[in-house]
Amino acid sequence: MLAVAEYGCWQSESMFAHELVLKQRTEILQALCSSGSTEHLERVLDILLSQGELIWEDYQDIQVPGRALYTKARQLLDLVYTKGVDTCALFLAALKQVLPDAQGSSLFFSGCCETLKEREQSQITCSQTLLTQRPSIVSKLQRCIDGTLEALAVSGHFTSEDCDEVRLPIHTPSQQARRLLDQVRSKGESAAEVVLNYIQQRQESGSPLNQEKLTPPKEFLKYQKKLSSSVSAQSCFLSNYGGTSHMSLDDIYTDGQLELAHDCADNQGPLSLEQIVGMVGTVNENADTVLVSGDAGSGKSTLLQRLHLLWARGSALQDFLLLFPFSCRRLNSEQRELSVQDLLFQHCCWPDREQEEIFQFILDHPHLVLFTFDGLDELKQSFSDEHRLCCPTQCAPVHILLFNLIQGSLMKGVRKVVTSRPEAVGPLLKKHLCKEVLLKGFSPSGIDCFLKKHHTDPMVAAKVLESLHSNNALLGLCHSPVLCWIVSQCHKELLCSGEGSPQTITDVYLMILQHFLQHQRPLQSTVALGWLQEHLKTVLHLGKLAFEGIGTSCYIFSGTDLETCGVTEDDICVGFLIQSKDMPSAHSKHYEFLHVTMQCFFAALYIVLSTNTDRSTIPKLFETQDMRETSLSGACFRACLSSNSQQEKALEREATTFETPNLQITATFVAGLLSGRHRSLWLHCCSTAMMEKKVRQVVRCLSKGMQKHFKSIPQPVEGEKKSMHAMPGFVWLIKCIYEMQESRIAKDAMSKLEVDHLKLTYCNIGPVECTALAYVLQHLRNPVGLQLDYNSVGDVGVEQLLPCLHICNSLYLVGNGVGSAGACALANIIKNSTSVEELWLTENCITRTGVECLIQALKHNTHVKSVWLRNNELTLQEVEEMTGLEPRLIF
Ligand code: ADP
Repeated sequence: MLAVAEYGCWQSESMFAHELVLKQRTEILQALCSSGSTEHLERVLDILLSQGELIWEDYQDIQVPGRALYTKARQLLDLVYTKGVDTCALFLAALKQVLPDAQGSSLFFSGCCETLKEREQSQITCSQTLLTQRPSIVSKLQRCIDGTLEALAVSGHFTSEDCDEVRLPIHTPSQQARRLLDQVRSKGESAAEVVLNYIQQRQESGSPLNQEKLTPPKEFLKYQKKLSSSVSAQSCFLSNYGGTSHMSLDDIYTDGQLELAHDCADNQGPLSLEQIVGMVGTVNENADTVLVSGDAGSGKSTLLQRLHLLWARGSALQDFLLLFPFSCRRLNSEQRELSVQDLLFQHCCWPDREQEEIFQFILDHPHLVLFTFDGLDELKQSFSDEHRLCCPTQCAPVHILLFNLIQGSLMKGVRKVVTSRPEAVGPLLKKHLCKEVLLKGFSPSGIDCFLKKHHTDPMVAAKVLESLHSNNALLGLCHSPVLCWIVSQCHKELLCSGEGSPQTITDVYLMILQHFLQHQRPLQSTVALGWLQEHLKTVLHLGKLAFEGIGTSCYIFSGTDLETCGVTEDDICVGFLIQSKDMPSAHSKHYEFLHVTMQCFFAALYIVLSTNTDRSTIPKLFETQDMRETSLSGACFRACLSSNSQQEKALEREATTFETPNLQITATFVAGLLSGRHRSLWLHCCSTAMMEKKVRQVVRCLSKGMQKHFKSIPQPVEGEKKSMHAMPGFVWLIKCIYEMQESRIAKDAMSKLEVDHLKLTYCNIGPVECTALAYVLQHLRNPVGLQLDYNSVGDVGVEQLLPCLHICNSLYLVGNGVGSAGACALANIIKNSTSVEELWLTENCITRTGVECLIQALKHNTHVKSVWLRNNELTLQEVEEMTGLEPRLIF
């Protein structure tokens, strides 16, 4: 019995439902019918039947064959309304369950009291069970129609005509399942029993219900073949090698490190490629979008390319019949408004015949379709869920389609994999993700593996490896696949350079610049000019193009763009620009830089070398970093662009959000290029006075940026330590200072930092960042606790941190993939250290060897109070043995 108050509530809710059905009639009809598919309506009918709100005769009255979808839906609404308040409430609950969130969001549903309930199971007949469990039986049956029909035919319940009627190719699998159930109902209890038994047997024998072969229409199969051969052709070569050599993806692909984001429930260590798409690590069951995030050059595009190739070849993701790959960079240039159908067919693969039928099949089987969107961060518009769209035939600007697909308002049930740099992912987007996967570049063994693949001559590979392993800073850089590729590509210079190998990212990019300029097309110059001076024009042309592109989020350039910036055929031949693949306009060529980081590098070269940039360019470039997420920053920076056409373009794109990550990379390169170590390179390329002015500007910006961070440190509560939790941008500033390689600047910056505890958790810190941190933090005046929990420091990063350990009284490296090599490196330092008191190494992968190193070190050291080692790779027995040896180790 309901209590009186509850009863009152329930009654008013239900009354309300009655009204809602009437008032929202138009919207409900639209939501049920606008997709053109009967699926929503039929699922609502399934639920109402199973709840006993409709009787079989009601159902048959509505489902008259050949009747239009809207007519059926109207009839259902009339019926529900006349049946009264309870049915209306249940109808709304069913609608809520069936409609995708976005479609439902424009409707009001009745309140809290009405939920769909499992109906009582006991003592009912098989026919009743087929009715009360109809929604779940339909979903099970659609995956094993053929088997069920066979069972019914063998048992004599179905004739071959009955079977043919169910199998009619105009029906989708779920419709076939419903027709089958409808027929069974007319055959009586024993037929119902056969169906239930068959489903049960399949479940018990463990044969997954979803592996039954679908019978898609013939044209669909042709389309599938066409799509997969197009995807295969697009993905078999590594695109970035376009300008240098053709590398087959099979020959060069090396697994990167994949992890679930920290906030995922079952964070179980490394993921395989296929697990990206699968259910593991799902945090939001209602969402269909997986985000793969990683820094520029960490291999996101290459990873997607690998997935595409494996799918096209039939070696992975075979649960998906269709895979549609999209590049956001290319979608940027789509000016027209499109429908989802146009998007799929015009941007991926055109069906030669029966477009409508194929599209309908896609709509009816969303779970068999996979979309991938590469480089969401390169889309000119930032993610928003304001403009909702539910109808797959409605046209809209491409970014709106994309955002609605990601949210699932469009094509609910289609799995989507999106890649982006982490900085560009806001909470708004996170809300719509089923999970986030982090791509963390190559592991140490991955680097070796890549180099062996890149140099097919084993002797050369061995030499490159040896040279790399003797240079930790360079090895650290190689965790980023793009840098690994560049370093590997320039191995000759690396091996031969007597004057020390590259230390910074700028060094590496300068090296590749020199490599390309000198080796691709050696000039026949007799004058002994510096290599940069010799090619200055080319560098400035490409630099202008890159700079203006960065200012307007443009990564693909037309012939006219090239002309405007003075880029000639000869400049293109150097190899930094490659022809953009599959652009919509087939007639004119389009170009892009080898990699977006290369575009940033050229933009930085332009800022440093050109006399045409505005004097406020450098300050604005650095300042905008503190104005993250505001379109103002974009507008500010764009305003520095000198060319009128660019200013016009900037105005046109007023509404777009500016891309902070690329600006940060560009600014880092500017700092690196203005380092005193490279000044001799610029000597004959521009005036010394101008260079010095630019250096002063950068130094001032870095110092101001740091001050801003320090000012944000709150005063400590009495008795507590003064602690700074790094703000976004702090690590970036540190990296800029490192790129300048001038200890004076590092010293100056750190002299003003007064904290006891520096917290840099979840800051995406890898080995490259560790090198920069150690370089700068070693100049701190007072010892600090350095907390780097939940980053990707790893063994190589630990090596990089060693130079700053003398200023750390505690070091936190929880959850950083540190192994025994890292533990031994730390042990080596703390042996003679009088600074470190506490070492947090919980949640790493240290084995017995690492702990033994630590035990040896502690024998010589009385300063260390505790070393935390919980959740490492040790057996219970090892833990017991070693605790006995050294009580300061805490397991
Ligand atoms: P992102 O999309 O994250 O910016 P890319 O996928 O474009 O990075 O990678 C940049 C370059 O790094 C590629 O062109 C390739 O040379 C190299 N690379 C990246 N990932 C891999 C990989 N898994 N195996 C081999 N090379 C890779």
